[in-house]
Amino acid sequence: MSDFVNESVTQRLAGNHYEIDEGNSHIEVNQEIAKATGTGKLLVRICPAQVYSEREDGTIDVEYAACLECGTCLAVAAPGALTWHYPSSGTGIVFREG
Ligand code: SF4
Repeated sequence: MSDFVNESVTQRLAGNHYEIDEGNSHIEVNQEIAKATGTGKLLVRICPAQVYSEREDGTIDVEYAACLECGTCLAVAAPGALTWHYPSSGTGIVFREG
């Protein structure tokens, strides 16, 4: 059996490749709604790729280039707090396994 099953998630993710769409984020946070609903803090905690981070003033920053396109953030965000779509064709994550 391959050693692949014994690798950590971090090791497995390190094999992936990203085609970055410079300056064209596929994720936008509505800061007001994110703050008012608690969505901002939730995004920071739940994203497996740590795309979201919170500044001291509560503003949520988005490191969209690291996105795994899993959709988890969309599932938990309050209505209007998050705009998310797949990256432009040919950009985003390229999964490599095995
Ligand atoms: S789709 Fe997944 S990896 Fe991308 S920002 Fe949302 S939770 Fe994070």
